[in-house]
Amino acid sequence: MTAWDAVIMVDWSGGNQAPAKPTKDAIWACIARGGTAEEPVYLRNRQLAEAWITDIIDAAQARGERVLVGFDFPFGYPMGFARALTGQDDPFGVWDWVEARIEDAPTTNNRFDVAAEVNTLFPGVGPFWGNGLKRDIPHLPRRGTERQGHGMPERREAEQIAKGAFPVWQLSGAGAVGGQVLMGLPVLNRLRRRWDNVCVWPFEALDGSLALVEIWPSLTVGPQPEGWIRDAWQVHEVARITSGLPADRLEQMLDVPKTEEGWILGLGFEDELRGAPEPPRLKNDCFALPPGIDWAPVDDVLQLLKERLAPVVGTEVLPLNAALGRTLAANVVAKRANPPHPNTAVDGYGFAGGRGDGVHRLRLMADRAAAGSDPGVIVPDGHAIRVLTGAALPEGVDTVVLQEDVSASQTEIAFHGPIKAGANTRKAGEDVEAGQTVAEAGARLGPADLALIAATGGNDVTVRKPLRVAILSTGDELVEAGERAAAGQIFDANRPMLLGLVGQMGHQAVDLGRVPDDRAQLRARLDQAASKADVILSSGGASAGDEDHVSAILREANAMELWRIAIKPGRPLALGLWHGKPVFGLPGNPVAAMVCTLVFAAPALAVLGGRRWPEPQGYLLPAAFEKRKKDGRREFLRARVRNGQAEVFQSEGSGRISGLSWAEGLVELPDEAITIARGDPVRFIPWDSFIG
Ligand code: AMP
Ligand code: MG
Repeated sequence: MTAWDAVIMVDWSGGNQAPAKPTKDAIWACIARGGTAEEPVYLRNRQLAEAWITDIIDAAQARGERVLVGFDFPFGYPMGFARALTGQDDPFGVWDWVEARIEDAPTTNNRFDVAAEVNTLFPGVGPFWGNGLKRDIPHLPRRGTERQGHGMPERREAEQIAKGAFPVWQLSGAGAVGGQVLMGLPVLNRLRRRWDNVCVWPFEALDGSLALVEIWPSLTVGPQPEGWIRDAWQVHEVARITSGLPADRLEQMLDVPKTEEGWILGLGFEDELRGAPEPPRLKNDCFALPPGIDWAPVDDVLQLLKERLAPVVGTEVLPLNAALGRTLAANVVAKRANPPHPNTAVDGYGFAGGRGDGVHRLRLMADRAAAGSDPGVIVPDGHAIRVLTGAALPEGVDTVVLQEDVSASQTEIAFHGPIKAGANTRKAGEDVEAGQTVAEAGARLGPADLALIAATGGNDVTVRKPLRVAILSTGDELVEAGERAAAGQIFDANRPMLLGLVGQMGHQAVDLGRVPDDRAQLRARLDQAASKADVILSSGGASAGDEDHVSAILREANAMELWRIAIKPGRPLALGLWHGKPVFGLPGNPVAAMVCTLVFAAPALAVLGGRRWPEPQGYLLPAAFEKRKKDGRREFLRARVRNGQAEVFQSEGSGRISGLSWAEGLVELPDEAITIARGDPVRFIPWDSFIG
């Protein structure tokens, strides 16, 4: 089955027309596609809501979309009600019965009278209760405790699982849903008749392209953020998260038994449906430097980035085999111990207890225990059983003697002691106990992590969506690699380098090409970048000169900081937000661009993508060079390791791209003055260690 193109979630109401000004407890609806929700829509009364829903579905179907529509009230009543009311077990019989009797005008309706009429068909008092009107209504008690002898179960099966859900019989009081059902079923019944591809879940097979489903937002949606109306927030969140689920997950959630009572979508999948909250936007001043700083030390800049940045990408659930290289958004806990059972570490013979010095003889059982097969026998005292590596220890076995140390006949084994009790076995959980955290949120999943998660019973993992990083080069002088370069033109070297670096970091590089030094064009390109990506990396034009247009237009947008960092090689970094998306304006010089990317952008991107702040690991090596360095700037030298020593590129000229290619990493020299003699220890950081 293909995915649902559009998801529409509706928060229903059983009451009379709500005020013109949006409020809670009215009808709210929200459309979402692919994990992105539109603004919720306020609908004052059911007539407006029915018309709105009908139009939206018509329009979506005209585009050929598959549409899932959710309503937050029960589609059915507890088992037995349909038969008692209509003589048949068909929930649609109840819909017809109710539709034939409900009168609904924006400012008045007869739900209490219809409920009372139902009650007359049952013995005793009830099942409906909660007359919310001033006038008394015969057969409709005001209190639930006045009911007796009506014979209906109080709750549907779904409501026994969904703690806190209200029974369908209650018509008034905060949170009651009974009135919504009576006022909602006639609308559902009309929707059902209107199109011939409608499937009502879970009463019918979902084989059409339009589904009506029951939801209960309180199952998973937390309190609304400030400035939101609760009901609007609830439909927004349920629509957003449901529409963003992988198609097969939603299909699993929809795969429930056909029951006349109806079911709540997502019961049993609450954690997943809770999803992650949409990441908050970065604050406008997130790149503001503390006042009075002229040249910021590298460590201060890193500290600032670490404190100010936060993940900007949402999450998704993936099966393990699709999760390599992705970033975990939630801790993974072992569902099962590893090993799950005590087992044998070797091929040999298993028996109970240790043995002292001397020769030991044991009766050999006919069975054998191999990995994955349980012989299902108990090994009596004085007996041994053949066991193969990885086999769970049969009952009666806690010690294994190596097969090489044994002489065996068909019926007996003999070996020399001593053998310690427990020898050659692995205890259950000796590697990992069930419940232990095996991988932490923020980790990038490597092959070994996949092994550990699989071994401990995991499969689906909640990971960050890939961080989309837009890369663009600026400068009138640039031409594309491979094109003809006129005098004065140079080839764009930064873009292939940055696209490569970002790809190696495991983010999704988005190529935004080259832009000439023209503010209008640059603005348009940044607009494009902001709509396609989560972060923007530009190179060139980042300083404070006349032709430094990246910093100029970021400054115009009032969200720019020019960071002068005490680093060599380097030029100022222009940091800002463009339509809320962070922009790293890197120097144009390829050597400075690469060093600044590795030192500052790499950890920043990691955090924006949901990873932990990475610390590049260097190691001390004897220098194969001599150098004197002044106080005040951190220096990074293009370096490589040969014969256990750190060599540096012969020229520090920052235009020398050949030195970047020659190098295998950087030597980091401290901010302070230092004189390095051959053989002195220096800190070498390989490229990979920056990339993480
Ligand atoms: P800018 O930061 O724009 O002043 O550029 C500094 C130096 O880097 C200039 O010599 C530019 O020509 C050069 N440069 C800028 N962008 C690139 C690029 N994408 N590829 C190679 N060199 C570049
Ligand atoms: Mg330039």
